[in-house]
Amino acid sequence: MHSFIELECPFCGAECVVPVDMVEGVAELVSDCENCCRPFRLRACMEQGEISDWSVDI
Ligand SMILES: [Zn+2]
Repeated sequence: MHSFIELECPFCGAECVVPVDMVEGVAELVSDCENCCRPFRLRACMEQGEISDWSVDI
């Protein structure tokens, strides 16, 4: 099961949609911006099948 997080690239501000595997707890993944191709880290907290919180780190 996947969910998607819409976020702004921390480098160029482009809108990115990142697919996230829904697991209980915290997931961390690295994604590349589609616009500038630079990688950022996404950390998502999931509870009861929903994303309760997320943040982006460079
Ligand atoms: Zn970018």
